[in-house]
Amino acid sequence: MPVPATSVSILGEPVPDLFKSETDAIEHARSILALPQADASLYRQSLADMTAHFERLMRETRRLIGRSDRAEREMNMLNAQLQTLARQLEYRATHDALTGVLNRGAIIELAVGALKKSGAALIVLDIDHFKQVNDEFGHPAGDAVIQGIVGCLHRTMGDGSLIGRVGGEEFTVLMPGATLEEGYRLAEELRAAIAGHVYEHPVNRAITASFGVSASPAGTSFDHAYGAADTALYQAKRSGRNRVDVAVDAAG
Ligand code: GH3
Ligand code: MG
Ligand code: MG
Repeated sequence: MPVPATSVSILGEPVPDLFKSETDAIEHARSILALPQADASLYRQSLADMTAHFERLMRETRRLIGRSDRAEREMNMLNAQLQTLARQLEYRATHDALTGVLNRGAIIELAVGALKKSGAALIVLDIDHFKQVNDEFGHPAGDAVIQGIVGCLHRTMGDGSLIGRVGGEEFTVLMPGATLEEGYRLAEELRAAIAGHVYEHPVNRAITASFGVSASPAGTSFDHAYGAADTALYQAKRSGRNRVDVAVDAAG
């Protein structure tokens, strides 16, 4: 029995049978085959009909294959765009827009992980007398100084360093598994690099930063490790700025 042409429906709407004319042609050919008295001209006619239908089927199949190839290419392109957007979204969710370093949430998450696993040294730095820079030269010049400070950090540490912007003009460098001595040495290099950099117009001078360093064994809480580095930073500020101080005890 041939399938009725309107037996398929989508959302209650009947879908026309794509192969209705071929189904009819096959039915017709069968009925001729079943005729005992059919002659050569009837067979010839039936063969011509079947050939025409077969050719239509081939054209239709080629068209459908072309359409599905185009749809697949389009889907692959959309998929690639989606992946790019997902990467951009992930980047924006974890990075600071002004400087491109990790944002506060991202560096804290990394620090929490490192402290749990291997322990870590933390360097916290805060730009000295930064309010004066804003007051004297304006906020955009202040932003350029913040970017310049990050440039100094990158040039000193190279790619792959873990830098986070934890506040407006405060940064943290995470050194998983590092000792206090290693943290101090790097902080001193960073301090010297920043102090040696002269900013362009309108600032036209060097801007310094103060540093606090802590080193904590595995199992130390982030609050404790960060608090220790922050206390050392406060000490560096009180002792005259543009200097590195280390935490006495950062285990806990
Ligand atoms: P100190 O040496 O004690 O650190 O003095 P300071 O003037 O740097 O004091 P503080 O660290 O408290 O100053 C923070 C200032 O940084 C205040 C705020 O206006 C400015 N600031 C914070 N975020 C930004 C920013 O994204 N851009 C600019 N231009 N300024 C910012
Ligand atoms: Mg500050
Ligand atoms: Mg400051």
